[in-house]
Amino acid sequence: MQNIQNYINGSYHNPIQNNWIDNYNPSNGEVYGQTPNSTKADIDNAYNAAKSAFKHWSQTTLEERSRILIKISELLEDNLDQFAEAESKDNGKPISLAKTVDIPRAASNFRFYGNAITQFASESHESVGQQVINYTLRQPIGVVGCISPWNLPLYLFTWKIAPAIAAGNCVVAKPSEVTPMTAYLLGDILNEAGLPKGVLNIIHGLGTTTGQAIIEHPDIKAISFTGGTSTGAHIAKVTAPMFKKLSLELGGKNPNIIFADCNYEDMLETTVRSSFANQGQICLCGSRIFVEASIYNKFKIDFVQKVKELKVGHPSNKNTNIGALVSKSHLEKVLKYIEIAKKENGEILCGGNRVTLKGYENGYYLEPTVIEVKTNDCTVNQEEIFGPVVAIMPFNTEENVLQMANKVKYGLSATLWTNDLKKTMRISNQLQAGIVWINTWMLRDLRTPFGGIKASGIGREGGFEALRFFTESKNVCIKY
Ligand code: NAD
Repeated sequence: MQNIQNYINGSYHNPIQNNWIDNYNPSNGEVYGQTPNSTKADIDNAYNAAKSAFKHWSQTTLEERSRILIKISELLEDNLDQFAEAESKDNGKPISLAKTVDIPRAASNFRFYGNAITQFASESHESVGQQVINYTLRQPIGVVGCISPWNLPLYLFTWKIAPAIAAGNCVVAKPSEVTPMTAYLLGDILNEAGLPKGVLNIIHGLGTTTGQAIIEHPDIKAISFTGGTSTGAHIAKVTAPMFKKLSLELGGKNPNIIFADCNYEDMLETTVRSSFANQGQICLCGSRIFVEASIYNKFKIDFVQKVKELKVGHPSNKNTNIGALVSKSHLEKVLKYIEIAKKENGEILCGGNRVTLKGYENGYYLEPTVIEVKTNDCTVNQEEIFGPVVAIMPFNTEENVLQMANKVKYGLSATLWTNDLKKTMRISNQLQAGIVWINTWMLRDLRTPFGGIKASGIGREGGFEALRFFTESKNVCIKY
């Protein structure tokens, strides 16, 4: 058994009320450890540690903060194998993905903000003719809360924590209870890197107990949250009367728009990836695929053939393309959507079934699934499934596809495949999404703003946007 503990004030602790929940290995469906289900008392301890640390940390020089963040990044790289194995075991994702994407990106997050904080500057405004100069301070908020989901566990956890501490805040952070392991392992690295005690406190538990205690805490002044839209709405409701600063990165139902004039081979290969990477459990996956009618039949045949070639297998197998889904309940949810699609006259072109792997019969495996739908109004095109399931349908005109792409409650990302520059500009301007990719997918420059509109959230992460979120501006006006 691999039990985990809370990391408070630089050391590991059991939860005060001694409540625990099971941690499952999705590849075989077995419980492999216990995770604290922390309560208000644990959050109070974490808050107090963070509050004490804030006095010193908020005055630590930018060079010193930068040095520590970059050291954390290097230590993560040094321990790549251990972290990748832990992430894969906890989440079900192929080890190859954890090694090339999740853990390297977590390291990049610390390195990026270690560098960014040394370049972050505030503004001054001279009120010409009035003998007045204004300068604006960017001060850390104090103790902030960071709450993250299970799909890219350490990657998204560190995407919040790194800018929060770089900006001089102290943090009470909660990873998903479904995938707590790598956040737990991070504690040792923080100590080794010399992060002062209490600057970052990592508390584990269910959203409804531990998460709720964080968002309700009156002195945790900002919440940075990534997760489902309904949880985001709940957090907004709870925190609004306390006027907490909020950043919400929520669900998506992203369109992938393919025109006949695209570079076909590039598009096909990337579309397989943008549909099924991480078992389709990435908020940026393109789950609604719209294909121009003139190439629709060709695309349908080629795409289905490529998807059938994807290998569903144990996450530790290097040849596996599709690992296990994260949990039994999530697998059941995804299967339910496949049934709904059938009832709504969707045609399953491939996949649709649970996979039983020899030796891992209780693992949560599912065939990558392509459904041909008749209308964008069907349930699988309107609700987030967050699994290895995509829907395809043809379109005839630019107006027609734009209207379908935007007719959904979400607005996170969109992907467009065409070599017509003017069309690219026209459509990108009108797409209701926070991020648009043209002839590529999930290519990230960490300086760019990241986030969604509509039910996909409020606020932006990335670059200086996150440093602005994690600081309060204060204007000082001087008459001379
Ligand atoms: P979730 O909303 O169930 O949980 C996310 C986190 O919130 C977990 O740590 C959970 O414990 C916590 N939580 C739950 N209830 C809470 C409460 N009442 N108070 C405080 N915290 C609470 O989401 P999930 O199932 O872990 O993740 C999948 C969702 O995340 C999908 O909808 C996906 O689109 C979204 N997501 C969005 C992005 C993005 O950047 N926009 C990135 C990844 C995932």
